Amino acid sequence: MPAKHAAPASAVLETSPAQGASTLPSAKLEAFLADCQLPTPFVVVDTEVVAQRYDALQDALPMADLFYAVKANPARPILDTLIGRGSFFDVASLGEIEHCLAAGVTSDRLSFGNTIKKRAHVERAYNLGVRLFAFDAEPELDKLSQTAPDATVFCRVLCDGKGAEWPLSRKFGCDPDEAERLLHLAADRGLRVGVSFHVGSQQGNVDAWDAAIETAARLARSLMGRTEPVRLDVVNVGGGFPGIYQREMPSIDLYGEAIAASLARHFTPLYGDYLPRIIAEPGRYLVADAGVLRTEVILVSRKHELDEKRWVYIDCGKFGGLAETMEEAIRYKIRTPHDEAVENGAPVGAVIIAGPSCDSADVLYEKTDYRMPIALAEGDQVDFLSTGAYTTTYSSVGFNGFAPLADYYI
Ligand SMILES: *Cc1c(COP(=O)(O)O)cnc(C)c1O
Repeated sequence: MPAKHAAPASAVLETSPAQGASTLPSAKLEAFLADCQLPTPFVVVDTEVVAQRYDALQDALPMADLFYAVKANPARPILDTLIGRGSFFDVASLGEIEHCLAAGVTSDRLSFGNTIKKRAHVERAYNLGVRLFAFDAEPELDKLSQTAPDATVFCRVLCDGKGAEWPLSRKFGCDPDEAERLLHLAADRGLRVGVSFHVGSQQGNVDAWDAAIETAARLARSLMGRTEPVRLDVVNVGGGFPGIYQREMPSIDLYGEAIAASLARHFTPLYGDYLPRIIAEPGRYLVADAGVLRTEVILVSRKHELDEKRWVYIDCGKFGGLAETMEEAIRYKIRTPHDEAVENGAPVGAVIIAGPSCDSADVLYEKTDYRMPIALAEGDQVDFLSTGAYTTTYSSVGFNGFAPLADYYI
């Protein structure tokens, strides 16, 4: 076992990362990073990997229309790639709608998935042709029935986010009993109805969808009990499909099998041959692994010369694109120029990894047991893998005078 795998027993916590061999998903990325002399920090994304992920997810979920969650990475080359694959798009704002339309997406391929929308933006979206809207509260439903009268409105149901490394907490979705009341209200108003949920981002449990699909079927059953039965138009199983970080994740096929089995188990007894339109909203899964974020070491220091732990300061931090290190939730795989030497026995030591800004919150990993080569020094380039999602747009516009994260698409 290479030295960097070895950790004292006391440090083998549940959070202890298994720093595995860090190969990139494509030779094109390797070649780009080997040859480029670009100033750091930057992200480079291989759009062919995005296309491969799209195809793999569509194979795993053949019954679903895939709506790419644009917020994960809205860059044009990614949209172009996904448009070429026949993707649909989940948008959260008028800005994302206009961005997609400008890229050539037609409005019938958009879903306005944010449950919190300005009335003027709903109106504008409707006038642009958008006909799929999320809601999770009565005033939002009022807004939709007043401004988007012939739309399909889907009610987002709360999920606990258990099993997810980036749970979406209680901000979105309502209690299933409230969803039942709201769906009947929507049906009373002649709207087409659906149910949606999100099991939490970076979801490691393939069975996390089952309880939510069961809830959706319970709501569907309630709507079938009306004097004039109403069927769900849409069941939206959300996102949550994982990227590859420190922890191993099940293969995408296992997610697909679990979701298909849940849909059959809960809906077939109710609907027979009728299947509502199944929608999935992948963000992270499609783009995370396609990207690499290159940083440079600014300083390696110890707070006392006898301290075992070194502080490694790099030129990208929480405000420069690595915001998902918040509470050390997302633990990226990291590569250094010394990894080959480490494979051959060169020593590593525990580190705290921090960003360059003058905000004390700008520490990436302190509790998580990261080890880096003892030889690591100023000027070394350090690569964060699987950084194609939730990095470029999480970068501040210039906090502390640091430029926003540069990004390249190959
Ligand atoms: C962010 C988001 C997604 C994407 O989630 P991932 O975990 O990145 O797949 C999907 N749907 C909605 C409504 C979202 O807000």
